[in-house]
Amino acid sequence: MDGLADKIVLVTGGNSGIGAAIAGEFAKRRCRVVITARNATKLRTAADKMAQDGALIRSLVCDITRRERVRRLRDSIQELWGDVQILINNAGVARAVSFADMSDETWDQTLDTNLTGAYNCCKAFLPPMAVANWGRIINIASTAAKVGYSHVSAYTASKHGLLGLTRSLALEAARSGITVNAICPGYVDDERTRENARLMAEKTGTSVEDILRLFAASAPQNRLIAAEEVAELACLIASSAMSGMTGQAINVDGGAVMI
Ligand code: NDP
Repeated sequence: MDGLADKIVLVTGGNSGIGAAIAGEFAKRRCRVVITARNATKLRTAADKMAQDGALIRSLVCDITRRERVRRLRDSIQELWGDVQILINNAGVARAVSFADMSDETWDQTLDTNLTGAYNCCKAFLPPMAVANWGRIINIASTAAKVGYSHVSAYTASKHGLLGLTRSLALEAARSGITVNAICPGYVDDERTRENARLMAEKTGTSVEDILRLFAASAPQNRLIAAEEVAELACLIASSAMSGMTGQAINVDGGAVMI
């Protein structure tokens, strides 16, 4: 019904959190799913778990900041199943630190992963989509793609950049049957958010639970977002029903940001 069955989907950063949830949702819709990340053990464990639930899934290690490796990933998937039809640029890093204390390495790694990594994947996977005259690119951005937050300047810059890439690419791909959209989650109830809360709790002498409550209270719905909510939206955007939507950035944030 949604036109997703059998589609070849690549989810970067698919071995944990939001990426794993997205891979799981596409698998439920009978897609052929490849997950990629750097940590081979974590990647295999995530894929094995999904395969037990009946997913048609493969895991291939790739550091998306390395262009040559992304091209090799494309070739491997081509040999395995064919061209990637749905690309989910989800891999990302986030480190909270004041601008004054931020190292050049943090800036470089954040931009290299969150922005250039997504660029590398678009560059490798978009041309076959154009030839096929069908494709979906979904960039997992953040509400930090739309508004500024303190202590995450590199992250905010990378996600604003990702939104710019989304919009320009949407225009250039519009006549090739390809849609390019972004999802902007607020605080998601996952390990990354809990880790951030732990770090903040340490620094401020508060409890992790209090920090998580603060995160939740930043949204009018007063709650964290489930990774599955982001995953469901990704599947909807990729579906045939959404062919007319491109260049958009949809917030899933309990009402925290309304632009
Ligand atoms: P996680 O830290 O759980 O997942 C990040 C994923 O990216 C991991 O699978 C990691 O795997 C992978 N990754 C990091 N660097 C690279 C790289 N160079 N090459 C390939 N893979 C890489 O985070 P989340 O699931 O929470 O976040 C997923 C996305 O959602 C990110 O883009 C994040 O910015 C965004 N987001 C998250 C929010 C949240 O509250 N959690 C809110 C808004 C947006 P490995 O380390 O093995 O490479």
